[in-house]
Amino acid sequence: MKSPCVAKCKNNAGICSGCWRTMTEISHWIAYPEQQQLAIMADIKAINATHQCPQCQQPAQCDISEGKSTCWCFDIEPRQTLAGSSSACLCRQCLSSMPTI
Ligand SMILES: [Zn+2]
Repeated sequence: MKSPCVAKCKNNAGICSGCWRTMTEISHWIAYPEQQQLAIMADIKAINATHQCPQCQQPAQCDISEGKSTCWCFDIEPRQTLAGSSSACLCRQCLSSMPTI
């Protein structure tokens, strides 16, 4: 599979603000089997959304909610999230736009 890089990649404290992959996903991209690449792309597009982003109300995907032991958000630098919004994770776009702690 071709890299989903959109040629405006910018490492925004652990997540790319162009293609929304984490730096871990980008650095291992070539080594991932195509099935895993497609799964990551589906996660980024929230095709199998687990919840609604509390900030933008768009579909969002959380690996923990899917029963996995880690989440993509563990790979990025911690962000300041709004107080009281701990109920649900932000989507990749919103989380990456938050200031780091
Ligand atoms: Zn959002």
